[in-house]
Order: sequence, then structure tokens, then C-alpha cells
Amino acid sequence: MQETIDLIADRELKKLRRFTRETGQPAPLDGLDLEPMSHVKEIEITDEHITIQYNETVKRRYNANEITHREWVYKYNDDPEMVAAIARVIEVSRKHLYDMPENISCPPGCAECCSGYEPFVNRADVQRIADHLGLTYDEVMTDYVVPRESADGYVVGWLRKVTEEVTDKCLFLKGSRSGRYYCGIYEARPYDCRDFTPVGCQDVDTSLPRRGEYPVGTPFAPKRRSNGKRNGR
Ligand code: SF4
Ligand code: SF4
Repeated sequence: MQETIDLIADRELKKLRRFTRETGQPAPLDGLDLEPMSHVKEIEITDEHITIQYNETVKRRYNANEITHREWVYKYNDDPEMVAAIARVIEVSRKHLYDMPENISCPPGCAECCSGYEPFVNRADVQRIADHLGLTYDEVMTDYVVPRESADGYVVGWLRKVTEEVTDKCLFLKGSRSGRYYCGIYEARPYDCRDFTPVGCQDVDTSLPRRGEYPVGTPFAPKRRSNGKRNGR
């Protein structure tokens, strides 16, 4: 299956159309680099830039070759539109796990970021997790959230860890060890987890292979039922 991801083409086209509309002039083609990007040699994505090396040419000389290439660099981290586009690329790469540069897919079962990091939750997150687990909003706040008021009231806290230690594992993390971890509330996970990007991730467990199936076992089951009683009692 092939999915088309529109990165910036649409915005560039809009820019050109606006120029034509405002000036009555055709778009300044000489200001554009029209050399088609073929023979892409390398795509590097960091948490700030995308760099594409393409159209390599080799001039053969008597005793040395001169190799040149063209390079397209885009700084995207202060551009919400581009960040959203990259997020889409990451989502697709997670889904398909192939044909993508290594540093934009997580090794299946890696969950280093689910430890040592507190995923913030907003009201909608808490309600979504509550609906998912069959609990009330207040029950989720009591059992699974460390409350923390934010100035704008948007963030209401962060997800609890298995112990009081913030560097410990998220309460919802399932699986026995790295390479086998998975999120126990994946469909309902907070926005913070959804937005977490593996691009340029420094925490990745480098001992894990980058390809393979994500291990998924039984989902997280809450200890209590919604009437306040503990399950199994
Ligand atoms: S909710 Fe899921 S994805 Fe988010 S930190 Fe916990 S285990 Fe990881
Ligand atoms: S590669 Fe990074 S972002 Fe992906 S699961 Fe591992 S620690 Fe988290």
C-alpha cells in the first residue's frame, strides 16, 4: 500500500498563487530551484532539520573523481505546519515500519520514553482514559494521575508511575522488558504520548532491532470497577 504525504507542496503552491494574485505577474520561476529531485541518496531527519542529498554527479578525472551532490535543507521545528506533516510521516512509519529512515521509527517494544518522563494529561485525556477503562473522570484522577494545576487550566497533571519515583515506568506500561514493552491503553493514551517523536530520540534502546512486529499482549485492566469497588473483591 502506498500513502501520499503532502509535506509543504500545498503551502508553496499557495504562496505562488498569492504572488500571482497580488502582483498580476506569473510566478518568478527563476527564483525557484526547478531541478527535479531524483536519485535521492540520503534523507536525514533530526529534531530540527530535514536534509536531503540528491542528484549526485561524478566527474571522472585522470587520477581523482570529483563528486558533487545537491542538498535540500529545511528547518521545521518552529513551523507548526511542517511539524504536523512530520508527525504524519512518523505515524505512517510507525504503522508500516519499513522503507523509512531508521531514526524516525521506534524499535518495536522500546519504551524508554515511558520511563523517566512524565506524560502530561489534560481533561480530555483523563476523560478518554476513563471511558476506555470504564471508570469515572474522578476515579482516573485518583488512581492514575498525579495532579498538577497549570496556569491556563489545560494540563491537570501527569500519569503516575509504578512507584513514587518519577524515573520509574508508567503505570500503564505492559510487557516484561525492553523489546517486549507495549502501551496498555494505546488507543486512549494521552496527547503527550501521541506527540512524542522518535526523531532524534536520544533515549532509544540501541540494542533493539529496528524492524519487526510490535508485541501487544493483554490490555491494562484497572484494579477497581467504576462503583469504587476493587475488581476481584
Ligand atoms: S500511557 Fe502508554 S505510551 Fe504513554 S507513557 Fe504510559 S505506557 Fe507509555
Ligand atoms: S525510540 Fe525513543 S521515542 Fe521511540 S519508544 Fe524508544 S525511547 Fe520512545
